Amino acid sequence: MSYVVCFYIAKANRCFLTFADMITPESIQQVMSRAEIVDVLGQFIRLKKRGANYIANCPFHNEKTPSFNVSPAKGIYKCFGCGKAGDVITFIEEHEKLTYPEAIRWLADYYKITLEETERTPEQQQQQLASESLRILNEYAAGYFHDNLLQGQEGQLVGLSYFKQRGFRKEIIERFRLGYNSEDGDVFYKAAVGKGYSAELLERAGLVKNRNNGYYDVYRGRVIFPIQGMTGRVLGFGARILKSTERAPKYINTPENELYVKSRILYGMYQSRQAIGKQDECLLVEGYTDVISLHQGGVENVVSSSGTSLTEDQLRLIGQLTKNLTILYDGDAAGIKAALRGLDMALSQSFNVQLVLLPDGEDPDSFVQKSGAVKFHEYIKEHKQDVISFRLQIGLKEAGSDPVKRSKLVNEIAESISRINKAEDFALQNHYVRQAAQKLNVDEAGMINLINKFIRERIENEQRKARKSEGVTPREDVLPEPDKIAAETDALIGDPKKEKEEEQEWQLLRVLIEYGDKPYEGYDCVAGLIEDRVETKLLVSDTVRELFVEYFENYHQTGTLFDTQHYVRYPVEKVKNKMASLLLSKQETSENWKNKYGIESIPIELIYPNDVDSTLSYFELKKILFLQNQLTNKLQEEKDPIKQHVMQERFMLLRKAEREILKRHGTVVYQSRKYRS
Ligand code: ZN
Repeated sequence: MSYVVCFYIAKANRCFLTFADMITPESIQQVMSRAEIVDVLGQFIRLKKRGANYIANCPFHNEKTPSFNVSPAKGIYKCFGCGKAGDVITFIEEHEKLTYPEAIRWLADYYKITLEETERTPEQQQQQLASESLRILNEYAAGYFHDNLLQGQEGQLVGLSYFKQRGFRKEIIERFRLGYNSEDGDVFYKAAVGKGYSAELLERAGLVKNRNNGYYDVYRGRVIFPIQGMTGRVLGFGARILKSTERAPKYINTPENELYVKSRILYGMYQSRQAIGKQDECLLVEGYTDVISLHQGGVENVVSSSGTSLTEDQLRLIGQLTKNLTILYDGDAAGIKAALRGLDMALSQSFNVQLVLLPDGEDPDSFVQKSGAVKFHEYIKEHKQDVISFRLQIGLKEAGSDPVKRSKLVNEIAESISRINKAEDFALQNHYVRQAAQKLNVDEAGMINLINKFIRERIENEQRKARKSEGVTPREDVLPEPDKIAAETDALIGDPKKEKEEEQEWQLLRVLIEYGDKPYEGYDCVAGLIEDRVETKLLVSDTVRELFVEYFENYHQTGTLFDTQHYVRYPVEKVKNKMASLLLSKQETSENWKNKYGIESIPIELIYPNDVDSTLSYFELKKILFLQNQLTNKLQEEKDPIKQHVMQERFMLLRKAEREILKRHGTVVYQSRKYRS
């Protein structure tokens, strides 16, 4: 194996390369043996010596007395407050939000170690060279524009006074490395060429343009926003014009090149990444200045997709830090439309997407200035709306009573819900189904069918595509029989671990004994009803099962029913005691029922039919919920989308049965069970 040595650029802050997984093991070893934990961690936190170790306030959680310990001898750290622990590399990964190879590169750069890279193709080498030189040029340009803003005469007069008028303080201007370039045609071009950068490179970076055999600056008379990647590299620029001329666009950006790939960039990511991770939430706003003013106002977990809809790559970036994405928008329609685009993708990537409408007439900038960070966060917390309810609200308003528009809306919502199709999001999908069906005033089962239709279509499409690209003749895809899956899940019912299940069976027995001879609609008596509804062989408790069998044998042989006296005087001590206490505490069932399933307790004076129904329904419902649970667990492990789909259909059947029981039971209070909101 041959190695290509990565050239080291002393001028650059950090030597990050595009091809992350190509560092040789020898190089990694070299970095690890060089890195001193106290030295490296000391770059980020204030360490105090205590004995052989060092302590500090933990950078990963908020605390006032230090519980973060560093052992230089062992090369490890541990926080006794939040439990975070590791070595120098995990610290860099965790603190700087870098991947493992990126952390290695960070350390290599810090210790000026030249990394050896495994062999790369000529194209890869060339691309690496191209992005390296762009990166160095961008770094230079960002510095040039920034110095020009703070020290140049025109920069101060025009650029800096614009930012000051927007209320930006000096430290925020520095944090975001804001800049300015003069109105004169080629000042920057000349400076850059003087530093040895080629016209060709400057052009590819989008900084200059060629006209009539001469080069001129692209950003003339503009304030400049360097756009940094996750690791702080300057990938490109956004530039805003200050004089209003009819012909020039307000904002211009770096054109796409090896480094600047718009779909992979979120403005503010570098400055916000730690706050996003810490607060486990990412706020999304429209423009550069929104991000900057929110930072200045103390709200630091915020990025901007610069007005475009979110891409998959951008979501992946956010997803490294948090799955909670909150989109802020102001009242104008364009903002809402921009906010809604790309959200189906976020849903399908398991993001918890929320929307927050800012108060009338406010944008993020004005609102944070008025309210301050604490109130700002409070407002967001109180006004969050999930994306499905948001669409419902907007859609219903637009559709009014127009049946065509309404049916279109039903389809759109079902399509959106069908995107939430990862097994782990199943409960969430279920929650949206209920909510949507209720608000759209449609049948839940119909909604589910529609959603399933979209899922099926998508699966079929994907399979067709996959077959096409593989160029293979389609194997007959064998759909698992729904009945087979049902049988599999049924086989799981007999889980014997539950004492509670046994308790419920005793309750059922109590009802049988207490009301067995009472009339019940559609049956000879209550005993007949219970015999019909309860599958004796599924009873978990051996004792209860035996008592059931004995009860019905006696009934069929003698035509009489055992009464309570038979059991209170029962020859087996255990049964006698159990029945006595059961008959004394029959109210517990309805209490249980209420606590567990949110169903209102039934007043005892409403006599036996309620007691029979609730006990029986409880029994049936419990079985159904148990099945649902089992199925959800199985779904989480199932990778095959078709099997998943069939299991989902099976789940919907169980949901239908659940609803029927609840309907039959009469007055119920429906509580959602443990849904993520
Ligand atoms: Zn901690």
